[in-house]
Amino acid sequence: MTDITIALSKGRIFDDTAPLLKAAGIEALEDPESSRKLILATNQPNVRLVIVRASDVPTYVQYGAADMGIAGKDVLIEHGGAELYQPLDLNIARCKMMVAVPDGFDYESAVQQGARLRVATKYLQTAREHFADKGVHVDLIKLYGSMELAPLVGLADAIVDLVSTGNTLKANHLRAVEEIMQISSRLIINQAALKLKQPIIQPILDAFTDAVQ
Ligand code: AMP
Repeated sequence: MTDITIALSKGRIFDDTAPLLKAAGIEALEDPESSRKLILATNQPNVRLVIVRASDVPTYVQYGAADMGIAGKDVLIEHGGAELYQPLDLNIARCKMMVAVPDGFDYESAVQQGARLRVATKYLQTAREHFADKGVHVDLIKLYGSMELAPLVGLADAIVDLVSTGNTLKANHLRAVEEIMQISSRLIINQAALKLKQPIIQPILDAFTDAVQ
């Protein structure tokens, strides 16, 4: 029987994907939060899950190490999406990509006056495009996490980050000044796998599509 490997990240995406997998008759035999295993068996002998960093999911699927995966739009934009079929917005892990600045910083004036802003972010591609479209000059500083700290210690004037409830911004005396885009997670499929393993992949895709609607 053909085997299928699905790449997922722990946490929000795994939790929100579990009901969709269940709709496709797939259930993990272990919880990635408590297990240290990176390959999880499921109740379907030919379906396994691999647990990877969210930003690595597109890479595993691109190279066919996983046949399919779930990745946020934020991650897909940074990856570039090469060789990935993206058939379905799962509407999970929803949030917004925003520009945020410290409470006292007059962003609107700085932008109007043509100031050169320093912007810290994990999302270089998204930030570069956004400010280029606006015609705002920026120096981008790549960070891997805790972007909210950067303006507080003088590393940057602004950040580009994901915002869900807004609590993290508030707790760090930052305010969102621009929405760049709505973010949600998408199903991604390796294009070769879609052709070669269609009899297994198509029913999963159909079950996901029904469950999302
Ligand atoms: P919140 O305080 O609810 O606005 O969440 C903001 C923090 O959670 C930021 O550090 C974000 O990077 C992260 N975050 C929020 N939503 C998501 C998401 N859908 N996927 C990944 N990270 C997220």
